[in-house]
Amino acid sequence: MANYYVLLGPPGAGKGTQAKLISEKIGVAHISTGDLLRENVKNRTVLGLEAQGYMNSGRLVPDDLIISMVRERIALPDCSKGALMDGFPRTVAQAEAFDKMLQDAFNAKIACVPCIEVPAVLLIERLSGRTMCPNGHVFHQVFNPPAAEGVCDECGAALYQRDDDKVETVTKRIEVYENQTAPLIAYYDQAGILARVDGTQQIDSVTAQIFSALGIDGA
Ligand code: ADP
Ligand code: ADP
Repeated sequence: MANYYVLLGPPGAGKGTQAKLISEKIGVAHISTGDLLRENVKNRTVLGLEAQGYMNSGRLVPDDLIISMVRERIALPDCSKGALMDGFPRTVAQAEAFDKMLQDAFNAKIACVPCIEVPAVLLIERLSGRTMCPNGHVFHQVFNPPAAEGVCDECGAALYQRDDDKVETVTKRIEVYENQTAPLIAYYDQAGILARVDGTQQIDSVTAQIFSALGIDGA
């Protein structure tokens, strides 16, 4: 059976870290709009060139660009088995468009929305020590260091620090989350599919909480 999930939570909450672990384990596609956008920026596509300025300043890329990017991604064959969304939706307009997309493409609804909750002080600490590889594997200099410095454990690619993880941009992104994305907590709560997760715990404990929210045996 195909299941569609959304991981909600502020920047630095651990969405990417958890999405990689969980999507591999349950065999659904991992869709990170941040990773898709960074790929477009790297390849200097029309979308990438348009998105870059918004990303560098910590603002959201306009809804219409994001919605059409996700519509194309969700049409690929791997999504027919289900998908775990990471960093999307981020506005009520995106959430409404996503509900409609799932309905039209798969006659499906979102099964569950785990919301990873982490206070702002911890987010800043996490984002300022984050390194990642071009394939979206995420590390932290202190909390989740790679075995060999600067090298991805998963794929051997070189790790880098994101331009938008500097402190001024991080503060802006947390503010944007509060204003534009946090309203989705009430949106999904009203739909009866929100599950709050304590994101201050260790990575494996957060994974266990998410599995329990999804009603999946994570062992
Ligand atoms: P998001 O995708 O929500 O922005 P990430 O998964 O990229 O978050 O995680 C942000 C940073 O915090 C990364 O450096 C990651 O290694 C680290 N991290 C993720 N989960 C935890 C955790 N439970 N405890 C400590 N650090 C974490
Ligand atoms: P994080 O989880 O650390 O906030 P992401 O990798 O999800 O970062 O996103 C990085 C940037 O890409 C965001 O600050 C924003 O500019 C853009 N972005 C990603 N997803 C979306 C989205 N769904 N809507 C609008 N902008 C997005």
